[in-house]
Amino acid sequence: MSNAPLVTSAAPLTPADPVSGGGRRLISIVSPCYNEAEVIGLFFEELRRVIDGLPEYDFEMILVDDGSADRTLEALNRIAARDRRVRVASFSRNFGHQIALTAGLDFAAGDAVITMDSDLQHPPSLIPELIRCWREGHDIVAAVREDTEGVSIFKRVSSRAFYRLINALSAVHIPEGAADFCLISRRVARALYSMRERHRFLRGMIAWSGFSRALVPYRAAARAAGESKYTLFKMMGMALDAIVSFSTAPIRLATRVGFLITVLGFVYLAWNLIKAFVTGWRAPGWASLIAVSMVMGGAQLIFIGLIGQYLARVFEELKGRPMYILKQEPAMPQHFAPAAETAPPAGTRTTSPPVPAVVPSRSS
Ligand code: UDP
Ligand code: MG
Repeated sequence: MSNAPLVTSAAPLTPADPVSGGGRRLISIVSPCYNEAEVIGLFFEELRRVIDGLPEYDFEMILVDDGSADRTLEALNRIAARDRRVRVASFSRNFGHQIALTAGLDFAAGDAVITMDSDLQHPPSLIPELIRCWREGHDIVAAVREDTEGVSIFKRVSSRAFYRLINALSAVHIPEGAADFCLISRRVARALYSMRERHRFLRGMIAWSGFSRALVPYRAAARAAGESKYTLFKMMGMALDAIVSFSTAPIRLATRVGFLITVLGFVYLAWNLIKAFVTGWRAPGWASLIAVSMVMGGAQLIFIGLIGQYLARVFEELKGRPMYILKQEPAMPQHFAPAAETAPPAGTRTTSPPVPAVVPSRSS
C-alpha cells in the first residue's frame, strides 16, 4: 500500500496521513509562486479545468507564496476564497524554489503529490497521464521536458551541461530535462519528509529514494507571463547545491590533482638538476616559474573553496534552523475536519520548534 510506514522512528512527525474516505484517492498539487501575480489566475483556471475532468479523484492544491514582493499572495488568497480545495502558505521572505516546494510537500496530505511550477511552463494537461502511470504502479512519475519554446541557447546549453556533469559525478541518475514537474507517491513523500537537509536538490533526493520511476515526455511552453526568476546566479547556486550535496567527487578530485601536480613538480625539478649538472645550463625560467606558481596557487584556492563548501554545509546543518518561516499557514485540509483534534497542526511540521504564525521582524 502506498502508506506503509517507511520512515524510521527517528523521523519527527510524519506528514498528514491520507484521509480521503470511501477508497477515493486524494491528489495534492504543490506549486511554488514567486512574483507570479500576472500568471497565477491563468494557471489556476487551466489547472481547474484539468482536474474537474477527473471526477474519480479528490484534489487539493497547495500554493506556496515564496515571499513575493508583488500582489501574488493577495491573488492566491482570492483563489482560495473561491475554491475550498486551495490551501495557501506564505513565507516571511524569499527562501527559494526548492524550499517552497518542500513546504508544499510538508503540508500535502494526498495519496500522491504532484509538484509543478505556477507559470504554465509545466502543462496541467499532463496531469491525467502522470496519474495513470502512478496507478500502474510507479512511485515516481517524472515529466521530462523535450524542448522549451522561447528558451535562450545559453539556458539550453547550460542545462544540458549541468545534467551531464551531475550524472557523471554522483551515484544517482537524474534524467536530462527532468525539472521539478513530477508525481510522487505517498511513500516517496514520506521519504522526502525524513530528509531535512537545508541545501536541497529535490530531483536528486527523489531519485536517491530509489523507488521505481516512469518518465513522461512533454514539450514545455514559454512562460505565460512574467519573467524567469532563475537568474544566472541562482542557477549557478542550484548547480553547486546539486553537485556538492550529491557527490564528494570534487574533494576526491582535489586530492588527485594535488598529487599529480606535486609529482610533476618533482619530475620537473629533477630534470632541471640533471640538465644543470650535465650541460652546465642555467635556465632563465623566470616566466615559467611565475606561471607554475600561479597555476598551483589557483588550483589550491579552488579546492580550498570546495572544501569550504562542504564545511559550510556541516555548519548550516548544525545550526538546525527551520528551513522556512511562515507568515501565513495553510488552512487545514477540508478532509481533515473530523480528525483535526488529534492531527498535528499543519504549521508545526518543520524540523525545529513550532513556527509562530507571525514572526517579529528583527534588524540584522
Ligand atoms: N520560484 C520560487 N522561488 C524563487 C524562484 C522561483 O518559488 O525564488 C518559483 C516560480 O514562481 C515558478 C517556479 O519556481 O513557479 C520556477 O521558476 P521560474 O519559472 O522563474 O524558473 P525557470 O522556469 O525559468 O527555470
Ligand atoms: Mg518557469
